Amino acid sequence: MSESKDFLRVIVEEDLKKGKYKEIVTRFPPEPNGFPHIGHAKSICINFGIARDYNGHCNLRMDDTNPTTEDTKYVEALKDAVQWLGFKWDKDIYYTSDYFPKIYEYAIKLIKMGKAYVDSINEEQMREFRGTVTEPGKRSEFANRSIEENLDLFERMKKGEFKDGEHVLRAKIDMSAANMKMRDPLLYRIRHAHHFRTENEWCIYPMYDFAHCLSDYIEGISHSICTLEFENNRDIYDWVLDTLELEPPRPYQHEFARLGINYTVMSKRKLLELVQGNYVNGWDDPRMPTIAGYKRRGYTPESILNFCDQIGIAKANSMVDVSQLEFCIRDDLNKKVPRVMCVLDPLKVTIENYEGEEEIDAPYYPHDVPKEGSRVVPFSKVVYIERDDFNENPPKGFYRLTPEQPVRLRHGYIISCKEVIKDETGKITELIAQYYPNSKSGSDTSDIKVKSAIQWVSEKHAKKIEVRLYDRLYKNEAPEGLEDLNPNSLSIIKDALIEPAVISDKVDERFQFERQGYFYADPIDYTDENPVFNKIVGLKDSWAK
Ligand code: ATP
Ligand code: MG
Ligand code: MG
Repeated sequence: MSESKDFLRVIVEEDLKKGKYKEIVTRFPPEPNGFPHIGHAKSICINFGIARDYNGHCNLRMDDTNPTTEDTKYVEALKDAVQWLGFKWDKDIYYTSDYFPKIYEYAIKLIKMGKAYVDSINEEQMREFRGTVTEPGKRSEFANRSIEENLDLFERMKKGEFKDGEHVLRAKIDMSAANMKMRDPLLYRIRHAHHFRTENEWCIYPMYDFAHCLSDYIEGISHSICTLEFENNRDIYDWVLDTLELEPPRPYQHEFARLGINYTVMSKRKLLELVQGNYVNGWDDPRMPTIAGYKRRGYTPESILNFCDQIGIAKANSMVDVSQLEFCIRDDLNKKVPRVMCVLDPLKVTIENYEGEEEIDAPYYPHDVPKEGSRVVPFSKVVYIERDDFNENPPKGFYRLTPEQPVRLRHGYIISCKEVIKDETGKITELIAQYYPNSKSGSDTSDIKVKSAIQWVSEKHAKKIEVRLYDRLYKNEAPEGLEDLNPNSLSIIKDALIEPAVISDKVDERFQFERQGYFYADPIDYTDENPVFNKIVGLKDSWAK
């Protein structure tokens, strides 16, 4: 637990002290209508985290009251996300749809109390009658229906005698309430649609405001934590539970600020649009802000948990800079992963005075990573270096290979460039170099001063890999729609070259490609014949310019 307590934990501790609840029970209640995103991760951390910290428990509940948009595949994605983040739910997962019979009974109770009525005005009238912030609304004539008539109509709604939209059930609260949400909110609507769990059993579905508080109550939730947009819904939450005179204790709703991150969108509706329009390759595309996307890209659960911890829990909405998330993954991988050499844009270097081959033993981890392990890096006459590690007309401060300036091949020898070979377009196709036999890393007696060491691979031994580089999904900081998508968010390099141990040793799935960034063996497309690596994040915050 972080040292300073957030406001939710303060509330929880006060409630425990007062003896309001025997046990702290929270819930994470997603609607299974899309893959969870990093905003959901924040909610998962809060709800499961509070339950863990106070020896309570947290339910994973599918808020499945909207048959037309929900699906089992989203339920699976939600379960995966919670598990991957390292949290466990109690026994089984819960479904609001399992409470449909109970919620229906509560509706009948409200009708019998004279607190709910069947309204039959059309949508347009409904909007008109609601009034505005400055003008009170008015009730429709149907609000005067007798309890018997309401009971009869509501039962016939359930039996399927009416079409969608013909009737709704509304709470009888106050059409002039300052809080617009309290102006006789809808409790039930007719929807002739197949539900992924209850199938065709129901054709009336409870609205969020009715189903959510009751589901919380039924599960014995103590603290119902949601995002700020639901602040105005809290009055209905309280009204429903109080009006029904339920056996205490009852849950209370508390709101926190939702997470927003720049350069991306955080709404399942918008993410679904990207998936359905093939703007990305599915929900787990590594550019997506979904948990499945981060997972596939190579983020670790620890980095996401750390991020959620760092951003804290606030009562005012704010935008978090994406570089903060990138910092968290970089920081985590820096402490863990092997360092290897990969050349993304290979330039051939023939070392004219070297014959044969040798094996260089090189450690996987730097001194400040408390891990052991090394691999063999084969060296031979022809190597490849990164094209931009050579410059024929170097600008000031260029510390790598030039016709005048030698450079060290990391873990190996110092080389100098003797000749630059170009094709007819002027493009450099090969360098002829010399190596210094007494300059080998670790036993260097050459006395040659070099300013940097660059990555390289041996032509004869290197493996070809595919590398997928990701840029931000959107061009602007606060994207609105598809027009803001970054057309260059994905670039694929088909013939990068990597040292052979990465493919044969399989010491890890995540690597630092030295001087390039952190990379992850794609969990789906990677094969030994066609290895594919995703760039997780660069070594430095390259955006902060
Ligand atoms: P979206 O608008 O992205 O579809 P939602 O709120 O409709 O999000 P739900 O499936 O209802 O999605 O959300 C499940 C839980 O996750 C809710 O308690 C919700 O408050 C929380 N949640 C959703 N988005 C965020 C976010 N960006 N930051 C923090 N919590 C969030
Ligand atoms: Mg929702
Ligand atoms: Mg939503």
